Amino acid sequence: MKTLNSSIDVPLFFRRLREATQNALLLDYDGTLAPFRVDRGRAFPYAGVREILEKLVGVSRLRVVIVSGRWIKDLKPLLKLKKRPEIWGSHGMERLRADGSYEIAKMDENLLGGLVAADEWVENAGLIKHAERKPGSIAIHWRGLDPRKVDEIRNRIEPEWSLIARVWGLTLKEFDGGMELRAGVQNKGDAVKTVLEEMDREIAAAYFGDDSTDEDAFMAIKGRGIGVLVRNELKPTAADVWIKPPGELLQVLHKWLPGE
Ligand SMILES: [Mg+2]
Repeated sequence: MKTLNSSIDVPLFFRRLREATQNALLLDYDGTLAPFRVDRGRAFPYAGVREILEKLVGVSRLRVVIVSGRWIKDLKPLLKLKKRPEIWGSHGMERLRADGSYEIAKMDENLLGGLVAADEWVENAGLIKHAERKPGSIAIHWRGLDPRKVDEIRNRIEPEWSLIARVWGLTLKEFDGGMELRAGVQNKGDAVKTVLEEMDREIAAAYFGDDSTDEDAFMAIKGRGIGVLVRNELKPTAADVWIKPPGELLQVLHKWLPGE
């Protein structure tokens, strides 16, 4: 583990974890708890992660929250947990609480028009097999493709989707393995803020993530907890500490179990 923010006392944080009345563990999924796979439907967690999550979800005083860009319905078969954590999907557009109740944020109809335009363009461009549609966004995935093919797809999409983004007021973002056009007004930072607002002031909280969309969450947790970048290579980030998966990830997750 490497501390990136000198104003954060990491040993003190883990001592507070023992003493706080409530703790929150917020976790991204792809690239953080699970290695990337070309077949996204087979991106199962790293060995040992499912077992520890199962234990963590059962810890009293600890709220385990998964915050993913995926549609919740696509995430559940990969997590396959017996006990249910709280899950925020589609970058915070949807929320499945631990009690099973489900909510989805309302979307502006004008913004949805932009998504329809992007969807039609993808279909006409013959790129539908690379597309992922979910509430409030559409993504194109190019992981595993030949680099020349990636450049070709990026060069075709970027001008078209940039135009759609400008005209309809959507957000275009490249992520690790593709590009996404989002109509959602919610981002992962909003999900983190909502969870923390529902909890006591004196909690120990951490957010674990790997990618550009996690930066909103790293910013949102500042002052309330620590941001943990989970990645093999360091990159510019607002996170407070950096760990490499899966070894250091498992070690740090174990610290959240009582008596460890
Ligand atoms: Mg990720």
